[in-house]
Order: sequence, then C-alpha cells, then structure tokens
Amino acid sequence: MIVHHYLHGTRVQAGSRSLDSLASPVDGSPLGTVQVADFSVVDQAVQSARQAFQSWSLVPVKDRVQVLYKFKMLVENHIGDLAKQVTAENGKTLAESTAGLARGVEIVEYAASLPQLLAGDILEVSSGVDCYTRRFPLGVVAGITPFNFPAMVPMWMFPMAIACGNSFILKPSEQVPFTPLMLADLLKEAGLPEGVFNVVQGDRETVEAVLDHPGISAVAFVGSTPVAKAVYERGIAGNKRMLTLGGAKNHLVIVPDADPAVTAKNVVSSAVGCAGQRCMAASVLIAVGDCDAILDAIESEMRSLTCGKEMGAIISAKAKHRIEGYITRAVERGAKIRLDGRFQPGPGHYIAPTLIDGICHEDECAHDEIFGPVLSILRVKTLDEALAIENANPYGNAACIYTTSGATARYFEMRAEAGMIGVNIGVPVPRDPFGFGGWNASKFGPGDITGRDAISFWTKTKKITTKWTAKSTNWMS
Ligand code: NAD
Repeated sequence: MIVHHYLHGTRVQAGSRSLDSLASPVDGSPLGTVQVADFSVVDQAVQSARQAFQSWSLVPVKDRVQVLYKFKMLVENHIGDLAKQVTAENGKTLAESTAGLARGVEIVEYAASLPQLLAGDILEVSSGVDCYTRRFPLGVVAGITPFNFPAMVPMWMFPMAIACGNSFILKPSEQVPFTPLMLADLLKEAGLPEGVFNVVQGDRETVEAVLDHPGISAVAFVGSTPVAKAVYERGIAGNKRMLTLGGAKNHLVIVPDADPAVTAKNVVSSAVGCAGQRCMAASVLIAVGDCDAILDAIESEMRSLTCGKEMGAIISAKAKHRIEGYITRAVERGAKIRLDGRFQPGPGHYIAPTLIDGICHEDECAHDEIFGPVLSILRVKTLDEALAIENANPYGNAACIYTTSGATARYFEMRAEAGMIGVNIGVPVPRDPFGFGGWNASKFGPGDITGRDAISFWTKTKKITTKWTAKSTNWMS
C-alpha cells in the first residue's frame, strides 16, 4: 500500500522515490510504503494552503474555533481507532497511545479558547492618541514532527496555528505517516476548509523542500538535536520564523528522604513508559547518599513489567540494535547490570526495562541520548554534586527531584539547568496554559511550542496609533 499525502482536502499519491516499506514494530506486519514528497509536491501543498489562507484568515476567530470544537468531539469519538493506529505504527501500548491523544485533545481545547486569549492591548499614549495591537496570522506555516508521538506532537502545532488563521502543512515522521491522515480526515469532517491543513510525506528531501520554499513563513520542528539545529539554521537563513525542539538527557535525582514506593513507581514510569522513547524520559538516576531502599524498589517495579503488556515496542529493528549496543558495551565495561532487557523474542522489536548501576560521569550511558528503556544510576554524596552533573549536560529538557522536603525541592528547582522541572514527578510536562520547551541543546529559537507562547509564534502583531480629535495638534501631542 502506498501512503498518501493530503493535499487540498484529498488523499493523493505522488513523489519521486519510495522509502523502504514500513512494518509494525509490534509484530512486523506490513504497513505500507512512503513516497517522498519532492519540491514539486511541497509546492502543490503551498499553493493549496496559500489559496485557502485568503479566506480562512478572514474568518473571525470565534468562527474559526468552532471547527476545533467539532474536531475535539470527533477525536474523542474516534479515540479507539486513532489509538489503534498509533500503536500499530509506533509500537507503544494502547494505554500510552490513548494518553497521548488525550493530551493532544487538551491542546485543541486550549486553541479553541483563543477568542478569550487573543484580545489585544489599548492605551492612550498621548492626549487624544491611542495605540493598540492586532494580531495577524503569518500565512502558510509548517510543522515537522518525530516518530515518537504520531498524533500528540502534530497536535502541539496545528490546532493553535490554524486557530490563529494560518494554513498548515505537516511533514510527519516517515516512520509514522498514517495517524496524521486520520486527523486530516477528521478536520475535514469538522468543517475545516480544503487547503487549510495539508500533509506531505517524506524524509530529509521533503524537510529541505519545506525549509527552502519561499511561500512558507514559519516552521516548527520537533526531533533530535543535530537535526533540530540544522533545520533551525537553514530555516533562519531563508528568513523564516523558526522554533525547533531537540533531544534530551533527563536526570532524576533521588535523596534518602524520598518515599520509596511512590518514587519507584514514578521513576519507572518515566524511564520505561513509551519504551523510553520520549524526550521527557528519565535516563540518568542520580542517587544522593544512601538510597538503596529506593533503588531496590525501582528494580522490583521494573521486574514486574512485561514486554507487549505494560511495555511497548521499539520503533524499528535499527533502533533496537542501537539501544542494545549501549547495554552490550556497558556489560563489556564491567558495569553492574541489575536488569538486562536484551534478548526479547520477536517478531516485534522489544527491549525490557534495563537498569545499570554505578556508572561514572564519563560513561556514554551518562551523556548520550539512548532513547530506550535504559536507566543508568550514578551515585554521589551531595545534592550539589548531583546538580553539577545535571547542569554540565548539554541538554536542558527536564530535570526532577524526589524528596519529602520542600526546602530540598526548592533548592533543586532554583539551581537545575532545565526548562521543565519535576518535583516528585518524573515526566513534568507543563499543561496549558504553561508551555512545553526545554533549554540549551533541547531547543533552538525563542519561546515554548505550546501554551501562551504558541500564540506569539503563530501570529505577528500590528501596532496601530490613532488620533481622532477635532483639535489640530502635533502628532506626538
Ligand atoms: P529525527 O530528528 O530523526 O526526525 C525528526 C524529523 O526530522 C522527521 O520528520 C524526519 O523525517 C526529519 N529528519 C530526519 N533527519 C533529517 C535530516 N538529516 N534533515 C532534515 N530532516 C530530517 O527524530 P526522531 O528519531 O523521529 O525522534 C526522536 C527524537 O526526537 C529524539 O531525539 C527525541 O528526544 C526528540 N523529541 C524531542 C521532543 C521535544 O519536545 N524536545 C519531543 C519528541 C521527540
């Protein structure tokens, strides 16, 4: 089966070359083949989006968001089918797929509240002279997304972008191209005019066509750091507004006063939820002082999880091989492997929870983004040592502390160098109106991708100065 693009409200086949056919990470069953959208296909999407923008941008925001209300209802009505599709192509468990969709729905709700958020400012800046602002959409904008959240990450972008009056082109990961087409169908059913939402499938060639197309005003990107950086620089060079979110290496710090049972459950769900394939996953656990009771509880919690039940699959054979390489090299270096998740039977691509103890700061497991269900333990004597390790890491997505002391939590919160801090929460995703975004090598560009900042990213402001006085005065008076 050839995977479709979605142009001007219709599923179409087009493209210069085909990628390797896709197989489900769950059981290896064939899914389809992506044809790469080259510049001419991207150009068709831009033409369609530009045409749609002429009228969509003039629809009052209160009417635009009516489509999102209907879309939210449709996503909720079809959440079972959508979750099955996410699981089939991405490999995460059905519960995880459903949770990702539910988070996407929250963002639709936030975007639907845009009429309450979009009102501008007005001030009499001089006698009889008023200054006020109006926000305008940018035009045709685009989003480029990774494999790990086939619905949720696109939903970080397009609901707010289209509510703001833009037309949107989505370039999903070539590893999970199907779910966005279901979302496109639901947007159409919700009443979104043709051309306001388009999907172009493909790989790097398609991304570069999006970045080089002069008709696209802004691009949001989510993916790995090297690509995020390159995409940011290429887009900026083309004078586009850019926001690109990259990878992560998240540190969780535990101190001896943390509650073992609560901490263990939370740490494990952070480290191995979505099989560790999320940018908020715990990757390094820094144990301050004697935390052995908590570490034992974490190990036994991990042991209780079964691949294919509570644990989802790894996206591809290649990714599985890469992740297992980290475990194999740790074994070869003589690390203490408390749990070894390799050697899981096929046909799906599974790795069970893996716990590596006593790594040193220089170990590759301490600094590489492994992006799998592998948690490495680093032991230190003081919280300041833990903070120094966390802050030396080039990423800055999430950092968390587990403690029952408010003072300890606050000390950490004020000093950890990350955009999203968790206190007794291992996946500290900020919910709207708070924005999602890390620091340092986890993000390029200003602001966050969701929450209030999303409105600024997808709009431009006009500042209008007016004088309606009968008296003739100097314009500054
Ligand atoms: P990826 O960087 O390989 O791919 C992301 C997108 O970029 C895809 O659409 C892909 O087609 C495209 N792409 C890949 N290589 C490219 C290249 N050389 N030039 C131009 N485009 C290219 O990422 P992935 O493997 O799909 O996703 C996992 C990564 O995404 C992890 O690093 C993870 O941390 C990160 N991620 C970050 C966040 C965040 O919010 N910071 C959220 C989810 C995922």
